[in-house]
Amino acid sequence: MGEASKSNHKRIPIWRRLQVKFAFSYLLIIALALGFLNTYPILASQDLVFKAKQNSLLSSASVISSSISMLGEVTSDGVAQVMDMLDEGAVSRVMVTNPSGLVVYDSQATTDHKRYALIQELSIAMQGTTGNDVSVCTYRDGAFRTSVALPIMYRNSLIGGVYLYEYDAEQGAIITGLQHNLLRISAALLGVALLISMLLSRTMTRRISTVISSIDELREGDYSTRVPISGKDELANLALAFNDMTERMQTTDEMRKRFVSDASHELKTPLAAIKLLTDSIAMSDGMDADTMREFVDDIGTEADRLVRITGKLLALTKMDNAAVTKTEPVDLGDVICDALHMLTPLADQKHISIQPTIEQGCVVRSSPDEMYQVLFNLVENAIKYNSEGGKVWIRARTSDEHAVVTIEDNGIGIPKEDRPKIFDRFYRVDKARSREAGGTGLGLSIVKDTVVHYGGTILVDARPEGGTVFIVTLPLFEQKEKQEKEDEP
Ligand code: ADP
Repeated sequence: MGEASKSNHKRIPIWRRLQVKFAFSYLLIIALALGFLNTYPILASQDLVFKAKQNSLLSSASVISSSISMLGEVTSDGVAQVMDMLDEGAVSRVMVTNPSGLVVYDSQATTDHKRYALIQELSIAMQGTTGNDVSVCTYRDGAFRTSVALPIMYRNSLIGGVYLYEYDAEQGAIITGLQHNLLRISAALLGVALLISMLLSRTMTRRISTVISSIDELREGDYSTRVPISGKDELANLALAFNDMTERMQTTDEMRKRFVSDASHELKTPLAAIKLLTDSIAMSDGMDADTMREFVDDIGTEADRLVRITGKLLALTKMDNAAVTKTEPVDLGDVICDALHMLTPLADQKHISIQPTIEQGCVVRSSPDEMYQVLFNLVENAIKYNSEGGKVWIRARTSDEHAVVTIEDNGIGIPKEDRPKIFDRFYRVDKARSREAGGTGLGLSIVKDTVVHYGGTILVDARPEGGTVFIVTLPLFEQKEKQEKEDEP
């Protein structure tokens, strides 16, 4: 591929590249999923631990509160005795105050100084006359911190308050470990996802790039370019469609080139003959009148050939352009009669007898002129490529939904290996004979194009007794009309 074609494509900025877009969207989805997985389980398990801790600490506080309550009043000695009897378990601090908030017992006290408990939970717990339960649990710096406060009641009056605090780094470590593990797993997953998404999107964009470079090659005129097909996805379908298109373009291009070269060659032959004849006349002084007339006749014959060739080329171009000709119901029987009327003198010259058998109702939708061309060419060939005293049979009949016309002759026949090629433009089995008979090698290709254009088929075969048979099948007019009516919504 040339540099010029490459430069026709704008360089795509990195953030606009499909590869980056694909990779980024995969990553975003995965990152969101991982983010959710990293927060929800941790929060849920923290919540469970919070509840368990608050409940267990509250029940411990309630045991202490009811034990002290049995004393009837809150005194340092009384509380100390109660505390000696109770097992504090995992509790880090126990504090008991009298109703005015003066600390009477503190498991973490370092001095014996009287002091007031300035603890928010405790003051809330001892508000009013009946008091409330207060419990708070937090998870901070890898540890659970739980504090609860309960009022101590005696005969419905507040006699003090109890405050418990627990610091648990063990369970905190479990949660922190879980958090770290989840983060490590997520990072690994994200890395793998990044790698996979990059690989996937690179494969995809690489395959797209292959199609683009093939399109470039095609634009440069290389119709042999094909996209390698891998996989069975949409991109594989795109490659298949592209390859199918280039194959058709290649065929069309080859046909066009062959046609141009064949047509030039065919036009060159009569032109060269005319040039030779005119040169001969110009160069020979004192040419006698008879020779001169002979030369001029030959020039006329070559000019006629040119007219025939160009006329047929024009007819073919018309078919190629698929110009919409006005169609109408055409009775093939009538067309055969017209063609036979024109061809009888030619047949008579070679003493060839023509036997038509025409069934009623062989009506097709087409243009009468084009059908005339088809049947004229086929019958003319059956006469041209026949021997003196030969025979031509023409049969027109209906079969199912088709009109079938058979043109049979007992002439020279067409060798088996030539039969598939005789519909090609300019193809002639015996060039000399065709030339002699005024042929151009274009007749059958016009016939085939016309028949196919009107939805029909044409077949060629050898007659077992010698000679050739052509079978033309065209959809019957009535059937076609009926079908069209049925197809109408
Ligand atoms: P042409 O103008 O040479 O007749 P056509 O396209 O009509 O061109 O036919 C192509 C070739 O097919 C002819 O040159 C001839 O060799 C062969 N051909 C066509 N029809 C017959 C036939 N009925 N019998 C034998 N050969 C035939």
